[in-house]
Amino acid sequence: MSMKIYNTLSKTKEEFVPIEPGKVKMYVCGPTVYNYIHIGNARPMIVFDTVRRYMEHKGYEVNYVSNFTDVDDKIIKKAIEEGVDSEVISQRYIAECKKDMASLNVKPATTHPQATQEICGMLDMIETLIQKGHAYKAADGTVYFRTRSFKEYGKLSHKNLDDLQGGNRSLLVSGEDQKEDSLDFVLWKPKKDGEPYWESPWCQGRPGWHIECSVMSKRYLGEEIDIHAGGEDLVFPHHENEIAQSEAANGKTFAKYWMHNAFLNIDNKKMSKSAGNFFTVRDILEKYDPQVLRFFMLSAHYRSPLNFSADLMEAARNGYERIVTSVDNLKYLLGKATAEEITESEAALVKEAEGYVDKFDEAMDDDFNTADAISVIFELVKFVNTNVSEASSKAYLEVLKQEIVLLSDICGLIVDKKEEMLDEDIEKLIEERQAARKAKNFARADEIRGELLAKGIILEDTREGVKWKRA
Ligand code: AMP
Ligand code: ZN
Repeated sequence: MSMKIYNTLSKTKEEFVPIEPGKVKMYVCGPTVYNYIHIGNARPMIVFDTVRRYMEHKGYEVNYVSNFTDVDDKIIKKAIEEGVDSEVISQRYIAECKKDMASLNVKPATTHPQATQEICGMLDMIETLIQKGHAYKAADGTVYFRTRSFKEYGKLSHKNLDDLQGGNRSLLVSGEDQKEDSLDFVLWKPKKDGEPYWESPWCQGRPGWHIECSVMSKRYLGEEIDIHAGGEDLVFPHHENEIAQSEAANGKTFAKYWMHNAFLNIDNKKMSKSAGNFFTVRDILEKYDPQVLRFFMLSAHYRSPLNFSADLMEAARNGYERIVTSVDNLKYLLGKATAEEITESEAALVKEAEGYVDKFDEAMDDDFNTADAISVIFELVKFVNTNVSEASSKAYLEVLKQEIVLLSDICGLIVDKKEEMLDEDIEKLIEERQAARKAKNFARADEIRGELLAKGIILEDTREGVKWKRA
């Protein structure tokens, strides 16, 4: 079955047809790095990482680019507060963000460009826009995009230029009084005291926010890409402006599919520092396993608002543990199993289990419906739990385990926790087992062997003593 993606541009689900067969070029707007990332930022990271994983599972080669915005008012403010260069702030929080991503099992992007490293490309694109009449320099050195020169402006956010002009007060930005038109937006702005700046043909200054993504996307993925994504707050003006810049400069369609995740709220309210309901990923990971947070994020469809609450996190913990327990049980049975070969009746059950893999794909093909896909994993878990026993063959148990692990892995959920045991914990249990054997407490010795096996640790009794390896 073909994959369908809801495209913000057409407001419909469209069949996914990549520009180049077998390849996906995908750009996801990343965070502005002035603090630890908050749990709202984690939503697009997890959602689009899952989109990427599913596409890879389908056989696509995915070139995944996600930027760090490392020049911005908030970064500069924090740098001034701490009395350091803004680079110190941005580098610190890029490193911290990467740690959070690793905890949440978000794969590193193919490229993680940083705006400050791409100034040359921005100067080039701005120059092209000026030459083509889509941008102009004001007397104070600010370069603006001439919004009305791009006839399709508003096509992503489905806004009409005249309505925008009439009703949107946010377009009247202080300090931007030299614009030709209130709809115009900044491409390059003059430096202020104490701010980082770069040389340019127009003035010493720094880029506007929107130009960075147009430039980085072009540099790492080319002028035409398959998917451009981010949170729904980015549709207007950020993505609308990116389209205007890229399409006006390159004369080509910028991105084929525009994907936007809905917001994450806290106890049904907008997350905000002033309301005291603001959580970083770090705050949450003090209380919960990162996998539980990841499970929670995927428990709703990415286009539905998601509410964060202690109750829902508890439900996520239970759901996640249900899958892990099933895998642990399979590992335990694998340690006990004596029959190697799969029987005929088991082969029939494996066929039945494969039906769940198809059902999972169907849910994901339908605009990445992870909520339904996770329900299918639960169905598979239930099927497995009711169809295995100590009499099951190794081959059969192994196939079932692989199926649960495969589907969980597409969601980026680690359910086979073999890596979790530290070497020293393993050694301690082995010592305890030796002591139990010495005391002729063979039941306890066997129990320990089973416990270790459930965690993927295989013991071998050799003449030189007990050796262990990870399965
Ligand atoms: P920012 O650092 O604000 O540019 O945000 C980085 C990414 O996180 C963007 O894709 C935003 O749309 C997204 N984002 C920010 N807050 C939330 C939220 N509460 N829920 C979901 N996504 C969010
Ligand atoms: Zn962006």
